[in-house]
Amino acid sequence: MESRATEPHFVLFPWTGTISHIIPMTDLGCLLASHGAEVTIVTTPVNAAIAQGRVGRAGAAVTVTAVPFPAADAGLPEGCERLDLLRSPAEVPRFFEANRGHGEAASRHCLRESRRRRPSCVVSGMCQTWTLGLARELGVPCYVFHGFGAFALLCIERLYAHRPHEAAASTDEPFDVPALPPLLRCRLSSRQLPPHFLPPASVGGEALRGMREFDVAADGVVVNTFEELERGSAALLAEATGKKVVAVGPVSLCRSPSLDPQSMSGDATARRCLAWLDAKEPKSVVYVSFGSAGRMPPAQLMELSMALVSCPSPVLWLIKGADSLPGDVKRWLGENTDADGEASSKCLVVRGWAPQVAILAHPAIGGFMTHCGWGSTLEAIAAGVPMATWPFFAEQFINERLIVDVLGIGVSVGVSKATENVLTAGSAGGSDMEAEAEVGTEQVKKAMEMLMDRGPKGEERRKKAQELKLKAKPRRVLWRREDRPTIIWRLWSNLLFEKLGV
Ligand code: UDP
Repeated sequence: MESRATEPHFVLFPWTGTISHIIPMTDLGCLLASHGAEVTIVTTPVNAAIAQGRVGRAGAAVTVTAVPFPAADAGLPEGCERLDLLRSPAEVPRFFEANRGHGEAASRHCLRESRRRRPSCVVSGMCQTWTLGLARELGVPCYVFHGFGAFALLCIERLYAHRPHEAAASTDEPFDVPALPPLLRCRLSSRQLPPHFLPPASVGGEALRGMREFDVAADGVVVNTFEELERGSAALLAEATGKKVVAVGPVSLCRSPSLDPQSMSGDATARRCLAWLDAKEPKSVVYVSFGSAGRMPPAQLMELSMALVSCPSPVLWLIKGADSLPGDVKRWLGENTDADGEASSKCLVVRGWAPQVAILAHPAIGGFMTHCGWGSTLEAIAAGVPMATWPFFAEQFINERLIVDVLGIGVSVGVSKATENVLTAGSAGGSDMEAEAEVGTEQVKKAMEMLMDRGPKGEERRKKAQELKLKAKPRRVLWRREDRPTIIWRLWSNLLFEKLGV
């Protein structure tokens, strides 16, 4: 690639563990490239193929570099380069060990390459902690991209500073996250906290401590959000951390809205989903998905299935890990939910990957049952779709409070505690086979009824969701070069680069 030495050069290191980090960081790379920056994304071979596909579809001038991930050296199967590819939770420490090896190789590669074209700025996923040393050696700023929203990051800062959970009488006792303005009130229990606040000796505790040290030492935070969305959280986060907080989202909007469906014209699943939606009434369908990898125990999946097949709305449901469900659950699903995507069928089940952004943007979608992953949350907001919230773990319970209480664009299903082993729950023979369902069929049905309610409360949620969609949209106009006169484009690019200090 020809070097444009006058433009800044961003080197992006997405967290390798989940696709949901590869997706927004690749979109961030495309966004920066569309502003004229040179961009290199450094990741593992398996993830590089995903990033390269997205870059190619966007037609962006981004270089994707694959650096080996020593899975076998750490005792993992070859190609096991993401957490969703692990066979059991016991393999998590080996994954982090392999990620360290990948980090050493990636650092060496970048130092060699820097002789040819020096980076101006490093943006790094939250677990790629070795990038701080690399950035220091290169003498360039190092930003962290957590994949969380600004409100969640602010709550995490307050929890670190005040530790209210340590004073709670039990793990179920709710407490307010301290020192937040009334508009941002957030009530949680210890069982809903992100893993950062697990007891120090817990599995993964050491990796989490390393991540926190990285966080504290980094120069700033890049957040996939827009300033109006999280009611001043980004400014409060900057104040709490003393760091630059740069809001660049929703990054999913930096792609042309027609790009995804077009690029997927050869993808049978995408075509099937969009054709099925085309046959449905506007705003009639509930889209149900729990992220790129999240699974629930079989007993819980059955309660959910029974609610989905008996609710009056048509349902488009994405199931991850369907192949490894126990035989009786697979049989039940086959007999009760599969009309093989016929246009007239009420429930379309997709096992595997589906084009979420295109689905959410479809006029037939009226509501989204989500695990409140930040990527999904922001994509729903960008599409103006209200949500029913079913958080699984990580910062998702905080996102639920933002969606339901702060923004008023969702209804809570009522989950009280984090799902254990969320990446492997539901696998035949796994340790979660006997786990009981926390949420019953009737409870799910009630949440779905509220979500799709045409009365004043439902309409109010829809109205607020539409207002946020309109506020999110100007970013796309500002970001896409072809939509802007050159002079405004340059000003905006300079502003973004200046904010990032390059
Ligand atoms: N996603 C998708 N198709 C799927 C499942 C997920 O496109 O079948 C995308 C979704 O659009 C989002 C990401 O995967 O960009 C999921 O990210 P999120 O932060 O919501 O959840 P996580 O996967 O981290 O739990």
